[in-house]
Amino acid sequence: MKEYDVVIIGGGIHGAGVLQAAAAAGHSALLMERASLAAGTSSRSSKLIHGGLRYLESGQFALVRESLRERDILLRIASELVELRAFYIPVYRDTRRRPWQLKIGLWIYALLGGFDAATRFGRVPAAEWPRLDGLKTRDLDAVIRYYDGQTNDALLTRAVVKSALGLGAELAMPATFTRAVLSDDHVMVTYTTGAAAVECRARVLINAAGPWAMQAARAVEPAIAVPDVDLVQGAHIVIPHPLTAGIYYVESPTDGRAVFVMPWGGATLIGTTETPYRGDPDQVRPQPAEEEYLLAVVRHYFPALSRLTRDDITERFAGLRVLPAATQPAFDRSRETIFTTDRDVRPRVLCIYGGKLTGWRAAAAHVMQRISPSLPVAVKRAETDLLILRRPT
Ligand SMILES: Cc1cc2nc3c(=O)[nH]c(=O)nc-3n(C[C@H](O)[C@H](O)[C@H](O)COP(=O)(O)OP(=O)(O)OC[C@H]3O[C@@H](n4cnc5c(N)ncnc54)[C@H](O)[C@@H]3O)c2cc1C
Repeated sequence: MKEYDVVIIGGGIHGAGVLQAAAAAGHSALLMERASLAAGTSSRSSKLIHGGLRYLESGQFALVRESLRERDILLRIASELVELRAFYIPVYRDTRRRPWQLKIGLWIYALLGGFDAATRFGRVPAAEWPRLDGLKTRDLDAVIRYYDGQTNDALLTRAVVKSALGLGAELAMPATFTRAVLSDDHVMVTYTTGAAAVECRARVLINAAGPWAMQAARAVEPAIAVPDVDLVQGAHIVIPHPLTAGIYYVESPTDGRAVFVMPWGGATLIGTTETPYRGDPDQVRPQPAEEEYLLAVVRHYFPALSRLTRDDITERFAGLRVLPAATQPAFDRSRETIFTTDRDVRPRVLCIYGGKLTGWRAAAAHVMQRISPSLPVAVKRAETDLLILRRPT
């Protein structure tokens, strides 16, 4: 039977990040993924590597600071995969967030980002508005420009796994985790590949199964605590009309929520929604009402596209956020990653709930710090903030 220091469930960005961090720290590590890399949330995000300007409104300053730091690291180590893009926030006569509020927000954003070049912002002169992809100019008071990152989430995940494999880590795929039995100093892990059940032994099991993490946690014996979380669906649609100037960050005309309208592979990606979800994570799909909600945004801000219908949608996808259970709207809830362990001292299982694509490297570093007392001494192979990530072919 094979033995590993770290065994990870889930080939999304978090599983990939922990695999790389464990291998970089000199540990033996195995990642098991039941479908394909980034098959879950990590190919269905808004694809932004960002500080999260809107999280300032809910006072999540530590999260924004950490995300801006990670954005800078990724712009450096993953320059083939993460691009700095201009973001435009149009402010109309009836827009809720006024230019002075946005400027204060962006000033705090710049402060938390260390005032580096990527945190610059300012008004777009009215003479330049005609270059903004046909953005509605009636009742337009101002357009604010700032910068954030955009990536291909699935390719980023694959690049991180590739980096980990280059450091000696292993990948089992397709491989479905089915059961874990805890002993005092190790975990017996069972997974299936095809018809075969395979057992391996781990010092620590990491549950990075995204919206399936609650199911995976319930397969651990003796039982471990599962936090009270909600699943919230976020839908995206793609329309074939390309926008080229940058990413538009607009208020939905329906309810004032922030929505992104983004260039994406020669077309335009629009997202996202926040719909409570109680079903099976495997069955998540954009709902017709969500598609109409997103189309209404485009029709409202881009008059040339006012006749768009659901027939014009060329691609649609939905992912699930894992958020702390609460009655308040998803928009206002904490986006901090939740980490739980089976015990405080020398944990044998660590579960990751929620989190951000942007923060995968910091999350993985945090995981390694939490589980290091359970792991044997090892010789470090690399620092993850120096490992260059290449675009997979
Ligand atoms: C709509 C939406 C938009 C978002 N936009 C952004 C954004 O723009 N920027 C940002 O920073 N963050 C964003 N996020 C957050 C980010 O996408 C997620 O936090 C991140 O992708 C979660 O990755 P994960 O690895 O935890 O989970 P996942 O990517 O879901 O990976 C879990 C993996 O586990 C596998 N799995 C499940 N069960 C098993 C099993 N039993 N055995 C083996 N494998 C199993 C699944 O197949 C899956 O591949 C967004 C999230 C959503 C929902």
